Amino acid sequence: MELIVLGSWGAFPKADDACSGYLLKAKGKNILLDCGPGVLSSLANHIKFEDLDAVVISHYHADHMSDIYSLQYASDIMIKIGKRKRPLKIYGHNEEEVFRTLEYRKACEAISVCHGTKTDIFGIFFDFYKTKHQKICYAMRIECEDKVLVYTGDTGWIDELATFANGTDLLICESSLFNHQKGLNEGHLTAGEAGKMAFKSGSGLLLLTHFPHVGNLDKLRQEAGNEFDKDKIMIARKGMHISFS
Ligand SMILES: [Zn+2]
Ligand SMILES: [Zn+2]
Repeated sequence: MELIVLGSWGAFPKADDACSGYLLKAKGKNILLDCGPGVLSSLANHIKFEDLDAVVISHYHADHMSDIYSLQYASDIMIKIGKRKRPLKIYGHNEEEVFRTLEYRKACEAISVCHGTKTDIFGIFFDFYKTKHQKICYAMRIECEDKVLVYTGDTGWIDELATFANGTDLLICESSLFNHQKGLNEGHLTAGEAGKMAFKSGSGLLLLTHFPHVGNLDKLRQEAGNEFDKDKIMIARKGMHISFS
């Protein structure tokens, strides 16, 4: 199992970069976690669009899913020219109307997920947990080949999320705020809270992501490092590979 960071900015991307998007390579499949602005371009550095097997969307804020609509065109074109044989599977919750827009012609198939259910995506098992956010959002726990990966999506602090992430090998945790900004936005975590989440869940590694556009990212790492082992904290950067063996 391998994870490739395709983008890590919150809200909007920096030049030649992207918002939330992570390519999971496991069991010979390519699964995209979130598809924010810039992610499609970043994805093209790693695989051909026709080789993408599934997409899992945490929630319907644009910085997590706006590129899905271009991906639908890509999938449609690949089917028309015979490079893609089956529709692209797009997983997301169906509690908002946006869900219906995930379906596209014969190119994309929308499949709903919900809190507390286990979803088998090509033999890779996903569990979902509703987070604390301005829009309905699901954290995901991914289990494959004795390894566990948890991606928080967007969330404010909830104790139960640490339980959901229990024993994960890698925690991909949003870190939208510096510690002094605590309370500024209840739907996001401070870096200190991200560190605390990693500590409480007993995570093997912490990958900080979903970054603010002002301030020094090293400071986020330092603040998370007051709560969790500094040597096990990484700052997500476009193109970063993390392998599990
Ligand atoms: Zn976001
Ligand atoms: Zn959001």
